[in-house]
Amino acid sequence: MAEQAPSARVAIITGGSRGIGRATAMAAARRGWRVVIGYASNEEAARETVVAVELAGGRALAVKCDVGVEADILALFKAADGFGPLGALVNNAGIVGPTARVEDFSAARIDRIMRVNVTGSFLCAREAVRRMSTRHGGQGGVIVNLSSVAALLGSANTYVDYAASKGAIDTLTIGLAQEVAAEGIRVAGIRPGLIDTDIHASGGDPDRHHRLAGSVPMRRIGTADEVANAIVWLMSDEASYVTGATLNVSGGR
Ligand code: NAP
Repeated sequence: MAEQAPSARVAIITGGSRGIGRATAMAAARRGWRVVIGYASNEEAARETVVAVELAGGRALAVKCDVGVEADILALFKAADGFGPLGALVNNAGIVGPTARVEDFSAARIDRIMRVNVTGSFLCAREAVRRMSTRHGGQGGVIVNLSSVAALLGSANTYVDYAASKGAIDTLTIGLAQEVAAEGIRVAGIRPGLIDTDIHASGGDPDRHHRLAGSVPMRRIGTADEVANAIVWLMSDEASYVTGATLNVSGGR
């Protein structure tokens, strides 16, 4: 399966068992990465993704990790340490709340979105830098952060809290990239547009992406594979001079 095994280095993909994360796990394994897949609660989907990677000739490990819980993140990285040297982190896990206006948000809702999407990404980045930075004796590596075009559009009447959390991710990408650029680590981001995954159903509006497809300049929604292809390119040496940048994968939206 491996097209060009660059190394036997490990890539951690949070939320790697379904959707964009799953597609990224498959694509990364095809490029020779050993993949460690984090998942929140659906053990069956995680196991199925591990089997799919292995059937295709790759190596994968699934670890339960709610990125809203710091102890879970520490356990995820500890498990990955036993699988091989870390070379990449894909900060992919992200959640939306039910469609609502800002005036109807509860503090608990906003806290949960920020804890998972922002704090979780920061803590995973921290653990990755501690392992990959040459400052800490590491061999360098790549961090790819999943943002969203929502960060640019604002998601009015839908989930402004989610959009704002992705704005924070864009800033994390810029600032962290500069912090670790001379320590062998590249940090880049992806802003997907409307992608065909279950995240829309989790926000209580399963048809949202299909309904809005006509508003996309390319007149269609995107696939998880189309996002994954961009992620694994950023993870590769083909993107060796790319850091601090966030790429829209959104059909022009
Ligand atoms: P998804 O289909 O809802 O992703 C599900 C994956 O995330 C599963 O592996 C799930 O684990 C895991 N997950 C959920 N909550 C988690 C938590 N608290 N901690 C760790 N893992 C968690 O999402 P997606 O559409 O693939 O989105 C992936 C990323 O792309 C997100 O950051 C999202 O914001 C971003 N994005 C997506 C779109 C889109 O249209 N799909 C657009 C822009 C940006 P379980 O199976 O165990 O629940």
